[in-house]
Amino acid sequence: MNILFAASEAFPYIKTGGLGDVVHSLPIALRQLGDDVRLVLPAYRDVMASMESLQDIAWWDLPGVGLTHRVRLLLAKPADNDEFVYLIDVPALFDRPGNPYVNTEGQNWPDNAERFSVFSRAVAQMARGIPGSDWVPDVIHAHDWQTGLVPAFVSMAHPRPKTVFTIHNLAYDGYFSHGDFNSLALPPEWWSPQHVEFHGGFSMLKAGMVFADRTTTVSPTYAREICTPEFGYGFEGILKHLGDRLSGIINGIDLDIWNPANDAFIACNYHFSGNSATERKKWQAAKAENKKDLLLKTGLLDRAKAATTKTGAAAKAEAPLLGFIGRLVEQKGVDLIIEMLPALLTESKASMVILGTGDHLYETELKKLAQQYPDRLHVHIGYSEAFAHRIEAGCDLFIMPSRFEPCGLNQMYSLRYGTPPLVNHTGGLADTVTDTRAETLKNRTATGFVLHDLKAQSLLSTVIRAIDVYRKPSQWAQICETAMSQELGWDTSAGKYQALYREA
Ligand code: ADP
Repeated sequence: MNILFAASEAFPYIKTGGLGDVVHSLPIALRQLGDDVRLVLPAYRDVMASMESLQDIAWWDLPGVGLTHRVRLLLAKPADNDEFVYLIDVPALFDRPGNPYVNTEGQNWPDNAERFSVFSRAVAQMARGIPGSDWVPDVIHAHDWQTGLVPAFVSMAHPRPKTVFTIHNLAYDGYFSHGDFNSLALPPEWWSPQHVEFHGGFSMLKAGMVFADRTTTVSPTYAREICTPEFGYGFEGILKHLGDRLSGIINGIDLDIWNPANDAFIACNYHFSGNSATERKKWQAAKAENKKDLLLKTGLLDRAKAATTKTGAAAKAEAPLLGFIGRLVEQKGVDLIIEMLPALLTESKASMVILGTGDHLYETELKKLAQQYPDRLHVHIGYSEAFAHRIEAGCDLFIMPSRFEPCGLNQMYSLRYGTPPLVNHTGGLADTVTDTRAETLKNRTATGFVLHDLKAQSLLSTVIRAIDVYRKPSQWAQICETAMSQELGWDTSAGKYQALYREA
C-alpha cells in the first residue's frame, strides 16, 4: 500500500518529543513489511537547510488569513537516507528558526491556526496523487492536532484515500476561536458540534477524530482512559462515540538508535545475551563504566577527588543514581520530583541527573536545588540527544511519574538499557512496565516499579522501595535482565497499523 505520513515533526529533521520519534520509526517498520511510506512536513527553515537537494514538484494557491498563499510542494533529498520526504513550502508561515510551535519566549506562534490549516490544505492536495508521478496514496496517516484538518479536507475529495488520525497527546487540542474559524475560510457547515465546533471555538484535534476513517492513540490503556472525563479533556463523549473506529496501538522504539550494544554516545557498549554468570558480569561492568562516566561528566564525582580518595569514589559508584529526561511540564510530574528531592537526598545516598526544558518555574526550582546539593543533583536545562543516551546507560533507576502518558518512550529506552523505570500507573507506562513484587520476581516478569498514588510522599516511598531492591544485587540484576529482554521494537505494532490501513 502507499501511505502518506503527514506530521509537524519527524526525527532526524526536526523533533520536539515522542511524536518526532514515532513519525521516524514507524515508517521504517512499515517499509520493512512492504508498504511504500512517504512523509510530508512543513518546510521549516532548519529542515530546508538540512536537505541535500530540493526539487520543485507543484505550486498551489491556497487560502490563508485574508490572503491567498502561493504554496510550493518540494521533494527533498535527506542528507543521509533515501526516504521520500515532501516539504510544504510557504516562507511566510514556516521560514522561521527554532521550535516549530513556539517562539524564543516559549509562546505559541500567533499564526499557528493559519500555519497548520494551510499545511493541512496542502497535504489534502496530495490526496489524488503527487503531481508529475504516478504515486497515489491509498491512506493518509495524519498525526496530532497540527494535521487534524487533513482528514477534514481530504473528506471533500472524490475519490479519496482513506484517512487514519493518531492522537499522540490529547492535552494539545489545537483550539482556536470562532474568529479564527471564519478567517481561515473553513467550510461554514463544519461549524457544528458534530464537526469541529468545541466549547465556543473549534478544535483541530477534534476535526481529526470526527473526519478520519480510523482514529488511534498510542497505547491500549490511554485509548480506554481518554473515553473518561478524568483524561478526556472534554473529548470523552466524541471518543466513546467512535466505538471500534478508535483503537490503541502501543508505540515501538527504534532499536538501532536506542541500542546499548552499538550506541556511539555512551562510554562502554553492552548487551544482554543470555542467563549466565559471565554474561551478567559483562553487562554489569559496562554499566558501571557508563555510570562512572556520567558521574564524572556531570561533576557529581569530582575527577581530582576520585583519583585521590578511592573510598569516596567507590561509595558514589555504589550509591543509586536516578535519572529523568523529558519536558519539564506538569504532565511529567516534575513538581512531584522537585517536592520529593530534598527528602530523598537527605534520607538516602542516592544522586540524580535531570535533563529537560520546559516551564521556567520548574527550570528555576531545579537549578536552585542543584545549587543546594551540588554533589548529589545535576540539572541540565537544554536538549541533548547525546546526554539523553548517557543518562539511559549510566543511571540505575529512571524516574517517570507522569500524571498521564499516552505512551511514553523514555521508559522503553530505560528498559532496553537495563535501567529499571519507576513510573506512574497510567497510559502507556501501565502497558509497558511490570511492578516488582514477590510474585513478579518469582515469575521473572518484574521490569521496574509502579506507583499507584501520585503524591510526592508516595513517589518518595516507591523510590525508597526501589533502592531497597537495588541493595539486593541478584534481584536487581534479574530485573535489569528481564527489562533488557523485552520486545520493544515496532514489529507487532507496525503489523497492527498495516491491518488497520487495510480494514479502513
Ligand atoms: P513526550 O512526547 O510527551 O515529550 P515521550 O516520552 O513520548 O514524551 O518522548 C520524549 C522524547 O523526547 C524522547 O525521545 C526523549 O528522550 C526526548 N527528549 C525529551 N526532552 C529531551 C531533552 N531535553 N533532551 C533530549 N531528549 C529529550
